[in-house]
Order: sequence, then structure tokens, then C-alpha cells
Amino acid sequence: MTGWTAAEGLEELHLRRDPATGLVAVVAIHDRRLGPAKGGTRLRAYPDLGAAVADAARLARAMTWKFAVHGLPYGGGKAVVLQDARGASDRALLEARLEAYGAFVERLGGAFGTGPDLGVGPTEVAVIQRATAHAVGGGAHGDASAATAAGVRVCLERALDRVGGELAGAVVAVQGVGAVGGALAAQLAERGARLLVADVDPARAEAVAATTGGRAVDPAEVLFAQADAVCPCATGDVLSAGAIPRLRCRVVAGGANDQLAAPVLERARALAARDVLYVPDFVANGGGAVALTAGAPTIGPPEVALAERRVGETLERVLARAEASDATPYEAAVAEAEAALASA
Ligand code: NAD
Repeated sequence: MTGWTAAEGLEELHLRRDPATGLVAVVAIHDRRLGPAKGGTRLRAYPDLGAAVADAARLARAMTWKFAVHGLPYGGGKAVVLQDARGASDRALLEARLEAYGAFVERLGGAFGTGPDLGVGPTEVAVIQRATAHAVGGGAHGDASAATAAGVRVCLERALDRVGGELAGAVVAVQGVGAVGGALAAQLAERGARLLVADVDPARAEAVAATTGGRAVDPAEVLFAQADAVCPCATGDVLSAGAIPRLRCRVVAGGANDQLAAPVLERARALAARDVLYVPDFVANGGGAVALTAGAPTIGPPEVALAERRVGETLERVLARAEASDATPYEAAVAEAEAALASA
């Protein structure tokens, strides 16, 4: 789907260009039936503005489902700040852009609240927060990625249990060991999983392998490793027509958004046909959203525990619905989310 077609499902689409800093940012608001729109800000290079709009629109829809399926009173939104060579090499310029972006979010007057996502961690959120009160997860608020990782870990434990396995001793392959994947790898290693880790930044993969007793593997091959479970924790569209037949695992559960490439239903069914238990991404990666919206001044152990509990309960409901209706977990999760939206 091109950017502008993807935008058709949105309630609102906002574009901001700031010539002074070179900022180009897009805010997509998908559905506010359950409450004000919230969603992270992604910092990434895109081939063109249409691709950025498409990403924001798709991610905003996933946020609508994420809040709905986990029973949270928020609507789906998402923002992207377009990265370029200048922004990537000049930190002061990037910070000026993020501050200008924060002012843009502020001008939306609370219609959209934001937080971290790919390329935007607590340090970057703290810069955005210089210009807006409508951002969480910056600086001292703490890092939501540990809560996201905890939710993914719980999903892995439960999914492995469903297929007759257990985390201790399981071989788990993690694609992308940034904020979420790195925290996930640490939690999995603590519980006795044997890790294969990969990142397009080889130094990062080596560092995580060293601290977790895992092995760094080729990022182009990590999804196809012989493993009990695979955890996509980088970018989306990784479960494609080409990739699914090559999987050699029983469970896929990861932190990345939009893991199923289009047409998504076909991909979900192809995974089920291969007896791969796929935990829908917006179920598995909801822990950060749960923790960030818990209202605590900092994300600490109670918020992480809440995220684990909420995500675990959601997964049980989704799997029970899938079994009762002979649907894939993805279809069941969408049905759960849509039912919550319809009753708003
Ligand atoms: P991050 O930028 O901290 O980490 C991403 C990592 O993936 C980086 O180390 C990067 O080098 C690596 N990477 C990128 N492309 C890769 C590839 N093709 N193969 C292997 N490695 C690759 O981002 P993050 O915050 O960890 O987010 C990761 C994913 O999880 C994103 O899809 C994000 O939308 C999603 N997510 C994050 C959170 C959160 O709490 N941070 C919450 C929900 C969903």
C-alpha cells in the first residue's frame, strides 16, 4: 500500500516541515474511540514522504489494536521524524529537530501524546520533552523497553509451553538487539535460554552475545536459525512470503511492530499451516504501552510486573479465542481488539 492509500483509514494526518532545522515529521492519528491518541515517535530514513506516511499510518493502526486488545483507554497514533545524513551525523542538529518536533506535538494540544520507538530512546524523548508536556518515557521516567521486553518474554514462555516446550534450555534467536531485543536477551539468558543474537550493527550483537553467553549470528540468517523460538525485535515486514517457508522454529514472538508482510492474513495463515505459533506483535509488544500509561512518575519494577501480568492475560484470552473459533492467533487478536473498539 502506498503512503497516501494507507492514510485513508486515519482520523487525522499532520505534517510538519521546519525549514530552520530541516525537520520533516508526520503524526498519524488512527482511531480515538477508546481515548486520546498515543503512540511512539520513530526516527528513521525513508525513501520518500509517502513511505513515511505509510509507516506512520500502519503503526498508528497497530497502536489502536494494541491499546484495545490490552484493555487500555487510549486511541492509536504514531509519529515519524524523517532521518537523513545530516541528522545522523550532527547531534546538535538532530536535537534541534527533535525540539522543533516537540513544539509541533505541543501545538496539537493533547490530541496526540508520544514516547519512544525505534531510534528514539529516553535521551531523545527528553529532548522532545523540552518543548511539550505530551511525551512520556524520557530521561528519569525510565526506559519502557524493559517492560516491552518483559511482555515479549512472558509471551515466549507461554507460547513455548503451548507447543510442549519450556524457556529453560530452549534455543531462542533474537533479531535486533537494541533497546527491546537487548533487554529481552538479558531476561531470556537469566532464565536459562540459549541465545542466538543478530544485529546489523555487529559490535552490538557481539556485546550482547558476550554478556548473555549467547552466540552472534548473521543478521540475514537469524530468522531461519534452527531454534525453538525466533524473536523479531528490529523492523517490520520480516514474516514475508519468502521468509515463512524458511523458518525452522515452533514459536515466533517478538517486540517489532508490523512483523507480518502484506497481505497479513495470508501470512498469519501460512505460519499456522507450518505449525508455527505466531504471537501477534501488538499482543507481544504491549508491555511498554502498559507501563508508560500506568501513571507512575518512573517506570520501575511494579510497572514492569504490571506489564508482564497484563500481556500474559491478554495472550491467554487471545489464544483461547483462537482455539474456540478455529482462527489463527492474529485473527483472534484483531477480533478481540475490534470487539473492544465496538463496545466503546
Ligand atoms: P532500537 O533502535 O533500540 O533497536 C533496534 C535494533 O535493531 C538496533 O540495534 C538495529 O541496529 C537493529 N536492526 C535494524 N534492522 C535490523 C535487521 N534487519 N536485522 C537485525 N538487526 C536490525 O529500537 P527498539 O526500541 O528496540 O525497537 C525495536 C522494535 O520494537 C521496533 O519495531 C519498535 O517499533 C518495536 N517496539 C519497541 C518498543 C519499545 O519499548 N522500545 C515498544 C513496542 C514496540
